[in-house]
Amino acid sequence: MTALAEEVERLLARPAPWPIVQAGHPVLRATAARYDGELGDDAFAALIAGMRTTMREAPGVGLAAPQIGLGVAIAVVEDPGPPDEETARVRERPPVPFRVLVNPAYEPVGDERVAFYEGCLSVVGWQAVTARWRTVRLTGSDERGAAIDEVLTGWPARIVQHETDHLAGRLYVDVAEMRSLASDRFAAAWVYDPTPERAATVLGFDLPGAPTSGRRVDVSG
Ligand code: ZN
Repeated sequence: MTALAEEVERLLARPAPWPIVQAGHPVLRATAARYDGELGDDAFAALIAGMRTTMREAPGVGLAAPQIGLGVAIAVVEDPGPPDEETARVRERPPVPFRVLVNPAYEPVGDERVAFYEGCLSVVGWQAVTARWRTVRLTGSDERGAAIDEVLTGWPARIVQHETDHLAGRLYVDVAEMRSLASDRFAAAWVYDPTPERAATVLGFDLPGAPTSGRRVDVSG
């Protein structure tokens, strides 16, 4: 039995939701190993089901395997979308049905970036404005091994960047605007604004590249 199979067996011995490891755990800073079917079909299916339960109960819109202590390149995603239409429109955030990403990778399409508040289930208690590529090309495969090659825009692109970064040992705080950092105990003042423009004004940070419009950011050079 491989080390991964043993770790998954240990996880599966307990019902999901499983504990989500927090920043400071080395697994969150390691590059996840490529997944090439090392788990049997049953264990893989049970792992995915447990990750889905863990993500939903958290609740979150994505969960990468390192967040449950597994250094393997698997992530799950599901976003019911925001409760109000204005936020959905401004953030380009349609509902995303549950899906599995195996060995995902992304690259930017165009050079436009968008900045919004973002949080992480492994950095509990904090949120910060993070600039992300507005549009990315996502590649990898799904849970059946079928190839994924698609272009995503807006929040679905943001989720994919966040989760894929986890598999490379990166956290959103590595690239977030730290002056925007907001504790959950205060974050409601900002994070429910459709855009972070008001937070930028009051907390004193520039939305990179476009301090006047805030939402759309052009990067060049
Ligand atoms: Zn995260």
